[in-house]
Amino acid sequence: MKVHNFSAGPGILPQEVLQQASEACINFDNLNLSLLEISHRSKNFEKVMDESMELTKELLMLDASYKVMFLGGGASLQFAMVPYNLLRTEGTAGYVNTGVWAGKAIKEAKNVDKTKVLATSEDSNFSYIPKGFPVPKDLDYLHITSNNTIYGTQMKKWPVAPMPIVCDMSSDILSRKVDGKQFGLIYAGAQKNMGAAGTTMIAVKEELLGKTGRTMLSMMDYRQHIKAGSMYNTPPVFPIYVSLLTMRWLKKNGGVEWIEKVNQQKAACIYTEIDRNSLFKGTCEKEDRSNMNVCFVMHKPELEPEFDKLWKEANISGIRGHRDVGGYRASLYNALPLESVQVLADVMQAFEKKFA
Ligand SMILES: *Cc1c(COP(=O)(O)O)cnc(C)c1O
Repeated sequence: MKVHNFSAGPGILPQEVLQQASEACINFDNLNLSLLEISHRSKNFEKVMDESMELTKELLMLDASYKVMFLGGGASLQFAMVPYNLLRTEGTAGYVNTGVWAGKAIKEAKNVDKTKVLATSEDSNFSYIPKGFPVPKDLDYLHITSNNTIYGTQMKKWPVAPMPIVCDMSSDILSRKVDGKQFGLIYAGAQKNMGAAGTTMIAVKEELLGKTGRTMLSMMDYRQHIKAGSMYNTPPVFPIYVSLLTMRWLKKNGGVEWIEKVNQQKAACIYTEIDRNSLFKGTCEKEDRSNMNVCFVMHKPELEPEFDKLWKEANISGIRGHRDVGGYRASLYNALPLESVQVLADVMQAFEKKFA
């Protein structure tokens, strides 16, 4: 039975990646040993780490001035590590508040040092992306969230700023063509679009590091992790391997240019139906709508149980909205086929025929 998996995270992975990852748990690289029971310092795993870093750089169009890390602690640890490594003790960091995750990043940055919120869309329950706000010239960095997983908004254009831009790309990394060189630092928890829960990818322009004036705790210091090739301590070997397999899958199929087109088709399919259907409405400004997380609600919420019955019968999974927004959220991560989105659109049409 095929399940149409719209989960917001951990999210859907390509079937062949799941297959290859399970095989590696039994017999990795024809060693007759599991990936989970060999040294992370073995040649076989070092190849995995090296290729993961190389592929990340290639897919994000990064040059040799960037270093890539795969660490534990989730994107949430990066909320603290970013200011700890980039915010000088006399400096100020600037943040754009576009949702729950951006808010958590701001909270941690304030715990580290001086932090300014430059713009927020909190006044309208984060239904749009603030634009055209002034950026003070003296910030150490400007932090943005490219895609707001919970509220379903996405930055279609990057702010222009004279200082390095730091971007939390957790929920739309590798979903579209992005010239990573526009950023000083990019981070992403792997579990939404890149691989499996347990590792976070960080790509940083190395020259930005070592300037804070802080005495650095080793595990919190990017330079320690870079020097050790992300093996300062035992790395999360399995999620890193799953990320590698997912990036290989992406590259083999045509890379970010290919998936960007597919993702646009998927988003167009579902947004067209939301706008056409008399029983549903989207929750965000149209120009800021996310191609990854599609949030929508019903005009008559009392009909929700009826709709829930229909989509469950169609083997759809994971479209209940986040508790902060309610309604529905269909996450269209890279591995979700267009066919699944079509099934959801068909269910919405059938629902309208029955109840409108
Ligand atoms: C899920 C998510 C996070 C949190 O990731 P963890 O790996 O659970 O810490 C942070 N930022 C964004 C944009 C997310 O979608």
